[in-house]
Amino acid sequence: MRRLSLLAVSCLLFSLLAGPHPRSLSLGGALRALHSVASLGPQALSLVPVVTAQQQPKYDLLLRGGRVIDAKNKISAVRDVAIANGKVAAVEVKLNPADALKTVDVTGLYVTPGLVDIHTHNYTGTGERGSYAGDNSLPPDGFTFRVGVTTVADAGCAGWRNFEDFKQRIIDRSKTRILAFINIVGNGMRGGMYENDLNDMEAKPTADMALKYPGLIIGVKTAHYTGPEWAPVERAVEAGTMANIPVMVDFGANKPERPLADLVTKKLRPGDIYTHMYSGLRGELSPSGHVNPGMVEGRKRGVIFDVGHGGGSFLWRVAVPLMKDGFVPDSISTDLHIGSMNTGMKDMLNVMDKFLALGMPLDTVVAQSTWNPAREIKQDGLGHLSVGATADVAVLRLEKGRFGLTDMNGARMDSTQRLMCELTVKDGRIVYDLNGISRPEWRTLPADYGPIGNGRWDGLNPARGTTPGQRGRGGARPDARQ
Ligand SMILES: [Zn+2]
Repeated sequence: MRRLSLLAVSCLLFSLLAGPHPRSLSLGGALRALHSVASLGPQALSLVPVVTAQQQPKYDLLLRGGRVIDAKNKISAVRDVAIANGKVAAVEVKLNPADALKTVDVTGLYVTPGLVDIHTHNYTGTGERGSYAGDNSLPPDGFTFRVGVTTVADAGCAGWRNFEDFKQRIIDRSKTRILAFINIVGNGMRGGMYENDLNDMEAKPTADMALKYPGLIIGVKTAHYTGPEWAPVERAVEAGTMANIPVMVDFGANKPERPLADLVTKKLRPGDIYTHMYSGLRGELSPSGHVNPGMVEGRKRGVIFDVGHGGGSFLWRVAVPLMKDGFVPDSISTDLHIGSMNTGMKDMLNVMDKFLALGMPLDTVVAQSTWNPAREIKQDGLGHLSVGATADVAVLRLEKGRFGLTDMNGARMDSTQRLMCELTVKDGRIVYDLNGISRPEWRTLPADYGPIGNGRWDGLNPARGTTPGQRGRGGARPDARQ
């Protein structure tokens, strides 16, 4: 009888965990349910179906009832999204919550691929002042998951001389997926003295470092050059050609010897990326008040145009006429660093809000923040929700109200809608949950509750022993917080 009871208890616990109302499940609720079954006597216990260890729920996590926007798969409709083993397992009109370990109701929210921000600065921690290989950069995790970003590409903070220091110091220790454009300058963005040193811009060692880390170094960056020469761009393109990766250009000081039109019509290859497209600093807006015709030609050749908002690269008086001319971005990115995090840029969603305010449809804004940038850096496995893809997901709320959005000079545009991030999933596990929509209400839990999430879907408060690959005893323990 004792053995029967134990079997029944474990079966019932399991069926409750996998049952149709996982969102409302709590340990207290499970125990109460067990008690009521036990009070019915042995006959009731024998009715409990026997579930063996093999019958794990098909899905770890089910996001139910949200509006999916997936540009790659041309989906903009209400869909259920199921995740298993860190991958997207199913995207269907209706999926059965009984098949999922955890279901989160996201009705009324937008479900998008995890956002991909291809212009950030993250090589911090060296202690170097006034340097993007130091104090000007930011550790990514505090600026990414809370706005739905799961992947960033550092835009050239490190060159071949210090890339591996960046990797061990930041990339390998962050939860955010950090990819990198390697700077054509061997010393990276350590300041003007380094960034204007033509002798430290060598294609071969740059390409060699990129080839040593394929899929991690996804491009070559040239930036901040103040001289009249084309050499930085030419050597970046040379390195990009050797390593078969795109080049991203911050065109530095505006010099008549190297006009923007020549850059995008002659010097860059199709697939190379011009960032800071709405800065107005290098003739993006022609004197006639329209888009520089060279940029239109460059786009026809296949050159990519990226926002790269930053602290000094986005003006309403440039963006509005260019958008009116139909010169929309291929990708939306932040240029996150200490000079942009609290000024007009703020964060990825705030930059996306600016394009909503400029009249761009939400589906397009999402495409330019997911599938487009992923393609630009040749990361075809990211930025979409195909079955089998990496399960990076952002759950966004579109708020209506009165909002304001400021540019690099502090000029405001009023707007009526704003994106907020409710939930972020990376590699199949919840890594951010603004309002606790994936969590039980605390009074439903036992008085001494510990972490109760399951590590198969929960990256925040998994109970000990529930994370795949994690060894140890199961069950909720107060000291199991990770
Ligand atoms: Zn930048």
